[in-house]
Amino acid sequence: SSASHQVREELARQVQLKKVQARVFRTGCFGFCKMGPLVVIYPGQTLYCLVKKEDVAEIVEKHLLEGQVVERLLYEEPASGERKRRLSDIRFFRAQHRVALRNCGLINPEDITEYIACEGYFALADVLLNWTPVQVVDAIKRSGLRGRGGAGFPTGRKWELAAAAEGPVKYVVCNADEGDPGAFMDRSILEGDPHSVLEAMAIAGYAIGAREGYIYVRAEYPIAVDRLERAIAQARQYGLLGRRIFNTNFDFDIDLRLGAGAFVCGEETALLRSAAGERGEPRPRPPYPAQCGLWGKPTLLNNVETYANVPVIIREGPAWFASLGTENSRGTKVFSLAGKVLNTGLIEVPMGTTLRTVVFDIGGGIPEGRQFKAVQTGGPSGGCIPERYLDTPIDYESLKQLGSMMGSGGMIVLDETDCVVDIAKFYLQFSQDESCGQCTPCRVGTRRMLEILERITQGKGEMEDLNELEELSREVMDASLCGLGQTAPNPVLSTLKYFRDEYEAHIRDKR
Ligand code: SF4
Repeated sequence: SSASHQVREELARQVQLKKVQARVFRTGCFGFCKMGPLVVIYPGQTLYCLVKKEDVAEIVEKHLLEGQVVERLLYEEPASGERKRRLSDIRFFRAQHRVALRNCGLINPEDITEYIACEGYFALADVLLNWTPVQVVDAIKRSGLRGRGGAGFPTGRKWELAAAAEGPVKYVVCNADEGDPGAFMDRSILEGDPHSVLEAMAIAGYAIGAREGYIYVRAEYPIAVDRLERAIAQARQYGLLGRRIFNTNFDFDIDLRLGAGAFVCGEETALLRSAAGERGEPRPRPPYPAQCGLWGKPTLLNNVETYANVPVIIREGPAWFASLGTENSRGTKVFSLAGKVLNTGLIEVPMGTTLRTVVFDIGGGIPEGRQFKAVQTGGPSGGCIPERYLDTPIDYESLKQLGSMMGSGGMIVLDETDCVVDIAKFYLQFSQDESCGQCTPCRVGTRRMLEILERITQGKGEMEDLNELEELSREVMDASLCGLGQTAPNPVLSTLKYFRDEYEAHIRDKR
C-alpha cells in the first residue's frame, strides 16, 4: 500500500537508463513505518523518507550522479526540526538496540549469501563442529533468554526439558502464528531475515536431538511464506539444511505448515494440533509439548523472535546477551509501536527501557499536541497503562504488576481523544470472536461481559454493571482452559482499575 515496489522498480529503471554504477536491491522492513517507502543509499547510509516514484529521478541525478544530498527527502526530527542524513543519526534508530532485528532492512532476505556475509550460519557451524548438545542448552540457559511470544517461560529450561525427553523422534517447531491486532514483529523478522530463524531451529535440533523442524506460519503472511520457502530451498542448496550438515552426522530439515488465521492457534497445544492436521483447539496441560507435542512426540516450540536471538547468543556468548536488559528479563524486546504516536513502526529496545523512552523518545510523542492517555501493551491479553506509570521499566514482571503483560510485543498508544471503554470493548470483542468455544466460561463469560460493555457504551449501563464486570472477569480467568480465556478480561480489568471514572461517566451521563 505504500507503493515501495513502484519506487524500487523506478529506481532500477533510472539506474539502468542513466548507466549509474549502482545495485538496487529490496530489503525487509526497517521498522520506520511512518516514513516509508524508504530508500537507503550506501556507502554513507543516507536515508530518504516518504519517497514517491516521482522523486526517484532526482535521487539518481542529484545523489548518485552529482554526489549531492536531496535535502527535502531527509528525515526531520520532530523536536528540533533538524534534518538528519544518516540512518544511525536519527533518534528513532539511535535509541534502539537491534539484536533480533539485526539484519532487517540491511540485507536482501532472498539472497542467502547476504545472510552469510553478516556471519549467518557461523553459529550453526561452530556448534556442530565444536560444541556438545549439552553445552548449547547450557549457553541458552545462561543467556537468560525468555520466550518472546507471551508468557516469558525461560527458553533454556524449555530446551533442557525437550533434550531430556525420551524417544527416537523429536521435533523443533516455530510458532509464527502472530495474531494480536497491531502486532507485526514476527512477520517482519520472517520477511526481513528468514535465515536467522532457520539457523536457530537447526541449532535447537542439534541441542535436543531432533532431525525435523516445522514452521507454523499464517497463510495471511504471503511474503513471509514466500521468503521462508526461498530461504529453505537456498539453505538446502548450500548444504545448511538436509543430510550431513557441515559434513557432520547431523541431519536436519525444515518444512512449513500454513495456519488459516485462527488466533487461538497461537496457543501451543492448539498450534501443535493444527500443525498435525487436526482441529486447532487447546488441550489441558500436562503433558507439556516437551513430553508430548507434535504427533505425540517430544517437541520444542518457540516463537520467531525467540529463535532470532539464538544465533547471536551463540556467536557473542551468553554473558554478552545477559548483560543486556534487567535481572529477570535479559536481552532486548521487539515492539510494534502503533496508535497515537508520531513514529509508528517496529522497534527493538533493551528490556528495562521505560515506557516514556519508547513513547516520547523513540516514538516522538503524541501528534497534534494532544495529551497522552495510556499505552496498551500485550494485545488482547494485555492491559492499558496510564500516564503515572510511564517511567516503569519494561520487563515481564513490571508489566504484569501493572495488570498488563508483555505478550508478543504489541504496543498501542492512546491519546486524550480515545475512549478506554471502547478500547476494552474492542479487545474483548476480538477475544470473544476468536474463542474456540470449547469451555463455557470463555465462550459464554466473554459474551456476557461484551453485552455489559455494549450497554455501557450505548448509555444504558448501571453502576452495578461495573461490579458484575469484575466478578465475571475473575470467573472467566479462573475457569478457562487456555491462555486466551485466562487473559481475555485483562483489558477490561486494567481500564476499570485505572480509568473507572470513564466507565462511570458513560453510565452517569447516559452516553
Ligand atoms: Fe477455547 Fe476459550 Fe477454552 Fe481457550 S479458554 S480452550 S479459547 S474456549
